[in-house]
Amino acid sequence: MTRTHIGDLKEKIGQEVMICGWVDVRRDHGKLIFIDLRDASGKVQMVALPNHAEAHTATSAVRSEWVLEVTGKVNERPSRMINVDEPNGTVEIEILGIKVLNEANTPPFDVRSDGKEIGEESRLTHRYLDLRRPRMQKNIRNRSKATKFIRDEFTKRGFVEIETPLLSATTPEGSRDYVVPSRLDKGKFYSLPQSPQQYKQLLMVAGFEKYFQIARCMRDEDTRGDRQPEFTQLDMEMSFVAREEVMQVNEEILINLVQTLYPEKKIQEIPFPRISYKEAMEKYGVDKPDLRKDKEDPNLLAFEWVIDWPFFEKDEESGGWTFSHNPFSAPQPEHMTSLLAKKDIPNILTTQYDIVMNGNEIGGGSIRNHQPEALKAVFQIMGYDDERIERNFGHMLEALSAGAPPHGGIAWGFDRLMMLLENEPNIREVIAFAKTGEGRDLMMHAPSELDSKRLKELGISLTKGKS
Ligand code: ASP
Repeated sequence: MTRTHIGDLKEKIGQEVMICGWVDVRRDHGKLIFIDLRDASGKVQMVALPNHAEAHTATSAVRSEWVLEVTGKVNERPSRMINVDEPNGTVEIEILGIKVLNEANTPPFDVRSDGKEIGEESRLTHRYLDLRRPRMQKNIRNRSKATKFIRDEFTKRGFVEIETPLLSATTPEGSRDYVVPSRLDKGKFYSLPQSPQQYKQLLMVAGFEKYFQIARCMRDEDTRGDRQPEFTQLDMEMSFVAREEVMQVNEEILINLVQTLYPEKKIQEIPFPRISYKEAMEKYGVDKPDLRKDKEDPNLLAFEWVIDWPFFEKDEESGGWTFSHNPFSAPQPEHMTSLLAKKDIPNILTTQYDIVMNGNEIGGGSIRNHQPEALKAVFQIMGYDDERIERNFGHMLEALSAGAPPHGGIAWGFDRLMMLLENEPNIREVIAFAKTGEGRDLMMHAPSELDSKRLKELGISLTKGKS
């Protein structure tokens, strides 16, 4: 007999079927033993009757989270037994035979609740169990739907999905890189990308014109609230565009995503309002104001674009200038002369646009400097000497000298977007295998020590004690 998915049982009334899944709960009433069996498609109530003696005995032995293969008859429930709250509430399986595919230890916590009452350390340590709970199943499945939707939307607009390397060189995105030692080239290190920024620009130089990627980014930041050392961006870039066109296509896809996958949500204002950084600070005192008219309504989404940001800000440590968002951004066209002349620095505005939803920054991007002199001027303003510019960005300057089209793009913080759409309090609830706030993977025990043989192979010696 081939397996029937539990979600399809309603079409099999009166038939004998074989179903597989996990014991959600078992209720022993002596003569009658009930088991709710769960698979990826749903849940169904099964009953073992004393007249099927063998099946009845087998059923009495099973426990929560055991994995079973059950043969049984699909019966319609009498009307007084119908459970209107369950998708399979009109049917019941009469158990004819049970095969235990695997037993399970008593789970360390209840996998049927929403999990909010359980300590997060325990949830992350046993994540494979935690992910069984309906809330996490929903979040991860909806995330998959959103990813597919985004892929389809960009693909149908002519964007090409391109993977970029994870083992790479350092990228300045305002954070620290994670580094990976090279065994073959002892003493040298790869950096894990903080974003595909440089690669996507190089893809524009290469003539792809429209690129996107669901990209993993890694940033070695100090523990800060709701951050993960690795996170996912929807990253895109396009050529021969001004700021307006990049904002337009992203706005359109965001609206489609919400309206298609979250029809219960209401977007407060379309087209998304725009607000300058200056106005945001003056009116709301923050650079990502929450513009919702009703903050009690979990289904109200207020998007806005924040534009006209200062390009440079003072670096607190060095006292010199640093970029406020992205060193690869272009200034607004009327500020290009100041940039090239390295004059009037605090007043240079960047083409940066941030997209904000309900007071959360969910993405940001800009038009880039596609002329090498302009990119070089940015680094000079930041106080880099020619040798450092050449060493770190020589490849970019060379590429921009190879016939680089004007281009620009954006990246969405995909985890944060999913968190907000799922009404979750933090991004760990929408990431299958999340790390703790301190960056630890409690399940896989990472980070962990390397044995001395591996260290030697890598040419690494550790200093004793903690620094
Ligand atoms: N690379 C930028 C970031 O990670 C996004 C962009 O400008 O496209 O924030």
